[in-house]
Amino acid sequence: MNGEIISIGTELLLGQIINTNTRYLSEKLAGLGINVYYHTSVGDNKKRIMDALTIARSRAQLIILTGGLGPTDDDLTKETLAEFLNLSLEINPEELAKLKEFFARRNSEMTENNIKQAAFVPGATILVNDRGTAPGMALQHEGCAYLILPGPPVEMEHMFSQYAVPWLRENVIPPGTKGLFSHVLKFVGIGESKLEWMLKDLFVRQTEPTLALLAKSGEVHLRLTARARDKEEFLQIIFPLVREIRERVGEYLFATDEVSLVDSIAEELKAQNLTVSTAESCTGGMLSQVLTSVPGSSLYFLGSITAYSNDIKTKILGVPEEVIAAHGAVSQETASFMANRIRELTGSMLGIGITGIAGPGGGSSDKPVGLVYIALAASDLHWSSGYHFTGDRDTIRQRATITALNLIRK
Ligand code: ATP
Ligand code: MG
Repeated sequence: MNGEIISIGTELLLGQIINTNTRYLSEKLAGLGINVYYHTSVGDNKKRIMDALTIARSRAQLIILTGGLGPTDDDLTKETLAEFLNLSLEINPEELAKLKEFFARRNSEMTENNIKQAAFVPGATILVNDRGTAPGMALQHEGCAYLILPGPPVEMEHMFSQYAVPWLRENVIPPGTKGLFSHVLKFVGIGESKLEWMLKDLFVRQTEPTLALLAKSGEVHLRLTARARDKEEFLQIIFPLVREIRERVGEYLFATDEVSLVDSIAEELKAQNLTVSTAESCTGGMLSQVLTSVPGSSLYFLGSITAYSNDIKTKILGVPEEVIAAHGAVSQETASFMANRIRELTGSMLGIGITGIAGPGGGSSDKPVGLVYIALAASDLHWSSGYHFTGDRDTIRQRATITALNLIRK
């Protein structure tokens, strides 16, 4: 069965908002076993919405429209669909009463234009909006199912999962339909090509589940996809393959699915009762920002000094002036001192020092843009290394941050 999503709203076409509704619905439809081959975005314009419906109708058995359900004149979705189907809209007295009650509770006046939110195609199933005022609608007409959902993502996602999915299961999706599920394995410290090389035979022989690699700012993601009746069956299907992958490249695997690198590090630091502090130059506090993005980070993160200028490096952090004079602010020696000094100053178990040239200016032939030194200090260990990152300023700073995170992980 083919499903198609039409997102309605001129703001989508002007690039003012990102179409997260389509992303959300596509993922959910895949899980329900509905193929999505096309997405359409169309402005708040009746003629163009009609055109989009005509095209979608020619190739799909389920059409989902989001947006344009509100009270204002540019909210045209329901009336356009009614016209497309040659049906009329009728006020539903119960929904009208609910709407009136909603406004009364808030002591605000219900203006005339709100009434159309209580209008539906006769016989359609009304989808309750627990998060807003405009209800949605589900109906079947001449062999095609239609879902009308509100534009605001919090309203749309709740309505879809709570009310539209049960309706689809009951009325539209053939029983026993298998959905498409994915599981993502996340690696760090290994390049995309090396990972592929180490799993080459698996890539070649694998048809179900399928494997796909995706490089993502310092991380490599491996996506396993298969059809299954539900998540549990899916996990059973992929189990042997995941075990094989873990045996071969498990040392680089840091997390799966929604868990991020910093989440996994936070878990690790908490489990081992470790504390960390950072002294950052070119990353300007990015590492401490990432480390504190996890709730409960006070359990492992003690503090940070953004030692951007040489003065701060020497006077506040206590890196000896001679070290900077002899080796430069961007050097393995300076990074090492930064790591050691921040560890001493804060009393943390681990100290990280980062110094480098993020660019675009400031590079030289022996110290080019992208050169970053990262050091890790602990009571019984001192580790430091130089890296040559490529990319623009932001990419270099992100790479340095991810590399430093990965050092903590080790
Ligand atoms: P309202 O009652 O708020 O007017 P509506 O159903 O009429 O709801 P729209 O007017 O089309 O929805 O959109 C309202 C807001 O919802 C938009 O300004 C935008 O912030 C958000 N929105 C709409 N469509 C999308 C989308 N496809 N992806 C993400 N956000 C969206
Ligand atoms: Mg609106």
